[in-house]
Amino acid sequence: MTPPDTPITTAPRITAPAPEQTAAPTLPGKIWFVGAGPGDPELLTLKGRRLLEEAGAILYAGSLVNEAATRFAPAGCVIRDSKDMTLEAMNDWLIEHAQRHATVVRLQTGDPGLYGALIEMTRPLTAAGLAWAVVPGVSSAFAAAAAAGETLTLPEVTQTVILTRAGGRTPVPAGEDLAALATHRSTLCIFLSITLLHEVQAALRTAGWPEEAPILVVQKASWPGAEKIVRGTLADIKRRCQDEKIGTQAMIIASPTLGAGNWESVIRSKLYDPAFTHGHRRASASADTDTARPADPS
Ligand code: SAH
Repeated sequence: MTPPDTPITTAPRITAPAPEQTAAPTLPGKIWFVGAGPGDPELLTLKGRRLLEEAGAILYAGSLVNEAATRFAPAGCVIRDSKDMTLEAMNDWLIEHAQRHATVVRLQTGDPGLYGALIEMTRPLTAAGLAWAVVPGVSSAFAAAAAAGETLTLPEVTQTVILTRAGGRTPVPAGEDLAALATHRSTLCIFLSITLLHEVQAALRTAGWPEEAPILVVQKASWPGAEKIVRGTLADIKRRCQDEKIGTQAMIIASPTLGAGNWESVIRSKLYDPAFTHGHRRASASADTDTARPADPS
């Protein structure tokens, strides 16, 4: 394990020191909460990458963030894995390093606004008078759907996506239990719940989902060489995940859209329908009735 605050030298390295490291900052730096994306460093935003390239110090959530993302850091950058730190220790670290570096990055998995303890981390910074900002990231919900070539919305099947979790050690507020949310029959992207798959199955059954309803589980979506995609049904998804030894870092997607690529037909989007006029295009033909048959989502 790397000792705290030891500059890590990983190749490839950017040799020129960041400007803010050469000029001694007279003012405290700014702390950037950067969404690292789901794992593949190429799914960082350009802005996130630029901030990493300029960073004097990076605190990354090593339990979930791919360390490869820190390869964009300049030589001499202080890089620290936060996985053994408490919230208080992380806040102290950020505040301390903002005294010495113009750009400090807190690198978080996916998007920082989803299950990222963002507000717990920003409040002490605000209280300490420090400037901070958030750079969004590609959430694992989207990376999981992308990995499987699935859509989360489909005309007249569902136009709604619920990002949620099963209530485990962190309880969910009243009215948000999975069975209640599942009654909408919209897409459910279920975070932090792979070890609670049995409860997820029970909730969907309570909400009336049929045993043959398709369920998708993606582990380590987008991680080069580590991604696993498991397709199953409400009846067998747990067994399939056990067979594949999926126990951590997995997204569960339950949706009536799953498998639509193989349906006989789908309702097409109005936006691209020749018979639909909108701000950028006039209708040029009548509706294609052959492709306008309702799909059977189950
Ligand atoms: N902010 C993150 C979520 C953090 S909570 C985001 O927007 O994706 C951590 C949970 O996210 C994990 O338990 C898992 O359900 C999901 N997760 C994170 N990275 C993942 C990945 N690469 N593949 C699948 N699920 C992932």
